[in-house]
Amino acid sequence: MSVHKHSITIVNGQLVTPFQVMEGTVVIEDGIIVYVGPKDGAPEVGPVFDAQGAYVTPGLIDIHVHGAGGGDVMDGTVESLEKMSETFSRYGTTAFLPATVTASQSELRRIAGAVKRAAQEGTSGAQVMGLHLEGPFINEEKKGAQNPKYIRPASLEELKEIQGELGPLLKLVTLAPEVEGALSAIRQLRSWGITVSLGHSDASYDQAMEAYLWGASHICHTFNGMRGLHHREPGLAGAALVCDGFSAELICDGIHVHPAAMQLVYRAKGPERIVLITDTISAMGLPEGRYELGGLEVEVVDGAARLMSGNLAGSTLSMARAVKNAMCMLGASLPEAIRMASLNPAQAVNMDRCKGSLVVGKDGDAAIFDHDLNTLATIVGGKVVYQRD
Ligand SMILES: [Zn+2]
Repeated sequence: MSVHKHSITIVNGQLVTPFQVMEGTVVIEDGIIVYVGPKDGAPEVGPVFDAQGAYVTPGLIDIHVHGAGGGDVMDGTVESLEKMSETFSRYGTTAFLPATVTASQSELRRIAGAVKRAAQEGTSGAQVMGLHLEGPFINEEKKGAQNPKYIRPASLEELKEIQGELGPLLKLVTLAPEVEGALSAIRQLRSWGITVSLGHSDASYDQAMEAYLWGASHICHTFNGMRGLHHREPGLAGAALVCDGFSAELICDGIHVHPAAMQLVYRAKGPERIVLITDTISAMGLPEGRYELGGLEVEVVDGAARLMSGNLAGSTLSMARAVKNAMCMLGASLPEAIRMASLNPAQAVNMDRCKGSLVVGKDGDAAIFDHDLNTLATIVGGKVVYQRD
C-alpha cells in the first residue's frame, strides 16, 4: 500500500506499539515492517537510525484534513496535496485523508482526480490514503463553515460517479442521515465497503440510530456540526456517546469542544473508539492571519480559525499536539493517546490490515517523538521523510 519501499533499522527506541511500551528495535524492509522486538535477534537491514531512547510509535493517521502549508484540498491540485503531505510529516503524521467541503459536482470530480493522482504517484511526506467526501449531502442548519450554495439531497448517481472515478480510494463519506436520499446512500456506500460518517446534521437520536442500522459506523467531529446533547432528545451526539458501534472523531484542541465535553466523550467511548482528528485548514503550519476556506474568509488568532461571523472554521492543530492534548486534557496514557491517533483511525476506514500499529507485515510507517511529544523524525514506507535538525 505504501508508496515508498525503503529499508531501515530503528534501534534504541521506546516502542509504543501502541499496546505496550518496550525498549526495542523496528526493522523495515522494502517498505514493510519485518521485525519488532528486542535488539538481540533483530535482522540488520538498511541504514541504522538511532532513536536514542525516544518514543517510536506507529505513524499518526489523520482522516479529516482540509489543508496545510498553504495548500487546500479544494484547490484540486497535486501541488496543494503535496504541500499538505510535507507539512503533516513534520508532526508525525504518515498518512491522511484529504477532506472536501461542499461544492458542485464538477468541482468534486476535479478534486477526486487530483487525490487519485497524488495517492497513486505518491507524495514526498505523509501518504495520501484516499478521499474523505465531507458533504455535500448535509443539513444546511448545521453547515458550519460549509458553503450553503451547494448543499443538496443525497444522490446515488453522484456517488456512483465519484466511486467509479476513485474505486477503493474513496474511503469515507460524511453525510447527514436526515437529508433526502441519505439512507439509500448509506446502504449503497456500505455495499462498496466505504465507511459512512454522520455529521453536519440536525438528526434526532432516533434518526441517528436508524442510520446506524443502515450501516453508518462513524461520527464526524463529535459535538461540532450537530445539536447539543439534551436529556430528552440526545440527538446525534447522544447516539455517538452511547452506541459502541460508532467510532467518534474528536478535534482535541480544547477550543472546538470544551475540555469537560471532551472528557465526556472519552469516558463514554474509551480509548478504543475515539479517533483524534485535526480538521485543519490551509493555514496549518503557517503564521496566524487571514486565509480563505472554500471561498469564505477565515481569520486565525490564538490557535483558533474563525469565519468573519465568529464561527469556528477548522483548525491549525497538529496530530502530535492532539496526542499531547489527549494526555494533558483527558488523562489518557501515552499508549492510549497514540492508539487514538493511529490504530483507531486506521480501523475506522478499514485500513488497519496494513496501517495503525507496529506489527510485522504492516506498512513501515513510524513517528519518533521526544518525551515532550516533539516530532524528531517521521518515517513513511521505511523512508525518513522528516528529521528535525
Ligand atoms: Zn471538516
